[in-house]
Amino acid sequence: MNPVPKCVTIVGAGLAGSEAALTAARFGVAVKLVEMKPGEQTPAHSSPLFAELVCSNSLKSDRPETAQGLLKRELRALGSSLIRIADETSVPAGGSLAVDRGRFALAVTEEIEGHPFITVIEERVDSLDLLLEKEDLVIVSTGPLTGGGLYESIQQFTGSDGLHFFDAVAPIVDAQSIDHSRAFFASRYGKGGSDYLNCPLSREEYKGFREALTGAEKAVLHDFDKVYFKDCLPIETLAERGEDTMRYGPLRPVGLTDPVTGGRPYACLQLRKEARSGTMWSLVGCQTRLTFAEQRRVFGLIPALRQAEFLRYGVMHRNSFLNGPRVLGKGFQSRAVEKLFFAGQLTGLEGYVEAIASGLVAGLQAAAMIMGAGIRERTALIPPKNTMMGALASWVTEADPASFQPMNANFGLLPLAGRRIRRKDRAKVRMDASDAGIAQVLKEMKKLLGEGQDSYGS
Ligand SMILES: Cc1cc2nc3c(=O)[nH]c(=O)nc-3n(C[C@H](O)[C@H](O)[C@H](O)COP(=O)(O)OP(=O)(O)OC[C@H]3O[C@@H](n4cnc5c(N)ncnc54)[C@H](O)[C@@H]3O)c2cc1C
Repeated sequence: MNPVPKCVTIVGAGLAGSEAALTAARFGVAVKLVEMKPGEQTPAHSSPLFAELVCSNSLKSDRPETAQGLLKRELRALGSSLIRIADETSVPAGGSLAVDRGRFALAVTEEIEGHPFITVIEERVDSLDLLLEKEDLVIVSTGPLTGGGLYESIQQFTGSDGLHFFDAVAPIVDAQSIDHSRAFFASRYGKGGSDYLNCPLSREEYKGFREALTGAEKAVLHDFDKVYFKDCLPIETLAERGEDTMRYGPLRPVGLTDPVTGGRPYACLQLRKEARSGTMWSLVGCQTRLTFAEQRRVFGLIPALRQAEFLRYGVMHRNSFLNGPRVLGKGFQSRAVEKLFFAGQLTGLEGYVEAIASGLVAGLQAAAMIMGAGIRERTALIPPKNTMMGALASWVTEADPASFQPMNANFGLLPLAGRRIRRKDRAKVRMDASDAGIAQVLKEMKKLLGEGQDSYGS
């Protein structure tokens, strides 16, 4: 039997690592937090403080009827320290939660540095093996720009298909928002049954789409993003290369017959299921660097996608992330080594609040392990799949490993199981399920804390 670990060592004091540290410490667990700042920074970080927001100061929508809002509601209910600090340092932003980034990072740093159970160590970690050899229990949360020795060390641990360096995601749309009267199910030449949903374009529609793509605004490219896989060009680059390049590439119409016209379309964009549930469809071959607003406008020119609701936008950027379904088990625990957890963007979740959520789950798992909880009790601490937190945690372990790409919180991950529910009632149904699931986790957390102590959560 393995000895019970005494201390949790967390590497990386970003959003996930800071939340994990404060979560474990709230259970009275000793935490070592290893962070290379301020002596060394990733190319995106510039402040000496922990929990730095590297880009926007918005943590997105705070309305509970949205996926992002529901996620925050769950985190508040579970007593997330970073969401509490975000609330305390918020700036007016309509229905969104935005923060004064300096005050936010300072408050997180002060809370960590002042915590009696947390010891901060300023050091760059270069070897996962060494860390596992030395430490009782480890959470790695070094983020999308994990570099140098540690990146290679994690890759050696996971195998070459276990850790990716670059993220090329095509937009993903909600199944219910696709105009099925302008689309048809088929695979090219009938091979593979009806796996694809095909969106045909006439000559004029194709020309308009191509012109819009070539003229559209692109997201700013950071120096560290200036690398493309040669086999993975953005769709707008293909459009720029020539009038017919897309028609001979991802939009080729060969082997397809449009049931409306009875003939081959001029061009055809294919959609592929992103999740087995069929709630999310990705635009095949459309990885892109267009700004999010431009993605809505330009892909909205495709007749079947005029009303499309984007669950996740396309991105192409430097991003270290694990192939979660191959590497991770429940609660972001390594499948191969029991005392190793991952948290944050490295797990294959994308976004500030998603990083915080994974930090809370991993921190809680680590605390429970240190407190001697068994596998059943620890599993009960993972929010169930019908909560937004649970749906995200399931995505990284249960998605298709062959096409795994990072995911943000969205309702495509939270299907309304087999029921036809009126649009206006959906938010309440989801919220009720989420509340029930989170209440169950809270009960387990209180059990772990022991009778008479209910300092955790609201
Ligand atoms: C350029 C960029 C812009 C982004 N913009 C947004 C946005 O606007 N909105 C959004 O929701 N998401 C955004 N993201 C995605 C993501 O939400 C953030 O990257 C988020 O900060 C991830 O949290 P994390 O805790 O996993 O990693 P991070 O917040 O990056 O934290 C990782 C920490 O680990 C430390 N570290 C790294 N390597 C080591 C090492 N070897 N040893 C010790 N310490 C180490 C780093 O210094 C850092 O403090 C962006 C990502 C990038 C790269």
